[in-house]
Amino acid sequence: LIQLYLPLNFLGFAYREIKQGLTDMEAMFNLLDVPQEIADAPGAKPLAVTAGAIAYRDVRFAYRPDREILKGVSFDVPPGKMLAIVGPTGAGKSTISRLLFRFYDTTGGAVLVDGQDVRDVTQDSLRRAVGVVPQDTVLFNDTIRYNIAYGRPGATDEEVEHAARLAQVHDFVLKLPEGYRTRVGERGLKLSGGEKQRVAIARTILKDPRILILDEATSALDTRTEQEIQAALRDVSRGRTTLVIAHRLSTVVEADEIIVLEDGRIAERGTHGALIARDGLYAEMWRRQSEAVAAAEAAAVAQAQA
Ligand code: ADP
Repeated sequence: LIQLYLPLNFLGFAYREIKQGLTDMEAMFNLLDVPQEIADAPGAKPLAVTAGAIAYRDVRFAYRPDREILKGVSFDVPPGKMLAIVGPTGAGKSTISRLLFRFYDTTGGAVLVDGQDVRDVTQDSLRRAVGVVPQDTVLFNDTIRYNIAYGRPGATDEEVEHAARLAQVHDFVLKLPEGYRTRVGERGLKLSGGEKQRVAIARTILKDPRILILDEATSALDTRTEQEIQAALRDVSRGRTTLVIAHRLSTVVEADEIIVLEDGRIAERGTHGALIARDGLYAEMWRRQSEAVAAAEAAAVAQAQA
């Protein structure tokens, strides 16, 4: 079982040179220095979210004209299903998720939500429909309650607590010196990566979006934290259309479809079982990973016996 919680080396486990994981949307604008030139089309209407279907149609994208990052990517995520995107660092996984928010416009093809081109709807309505659980959550210098309630301004104490319970962070909060009134962030109590991620999950539960983007942590967490986070993520993604940048075996195994992205193209796609049977790139990466896991386990056993 332990191997389900080890990060997938082969899936781009190495830390990115520049942390490009999704953070809060606001923070992301700052971090990535995203040009603010994306404007609502004249007469743009609010997105009418019905079932929450996502469709990418031959999507091409370049940050700079001389270097195409996505070279014709097509997929559908049916309502309530989970698509896992795997592949080496730099393949374009985060870029795919950024296009769903329309942080950038595609240079070819289209991104559709419930049949509506994201270029034709207001950005505000689009971003309300999509929740993000980033790898690195930015906390505000405020109380932990504020940080959770940020997902739905005006939420009651009961709602905040309920979300915290589902995100498996409530018991932790109760042990803090001032409970939900404890100040966190850079100038307050520092939370661990796992704790911050659970705050982000609670925020997303309050926001209650039809569509979810998960950016799994690449770094190893202790097994218990990892299990709690996986359980919380499973809860929050249930019934929501989910696009996950996956680094965990447990996630890819459970995904309805996996796409293996390589240099801006989909190299392979299918379920875990189908990709293993195909015995191609994914199967080879899986074998290498399994060997690495076995070696890590053997080392742990040896260490315990020493
Ligand atoms: P992944 O998530 O698979 O690691 P990314 O989508 O983050 O890959 O990045 C794909 C490529 O696009 C990388 O070569 C990266 O350096 C480049 N890239 C990412 N963000 C920017 C940016 N804001 N400006 C220019 N190039 C970028």
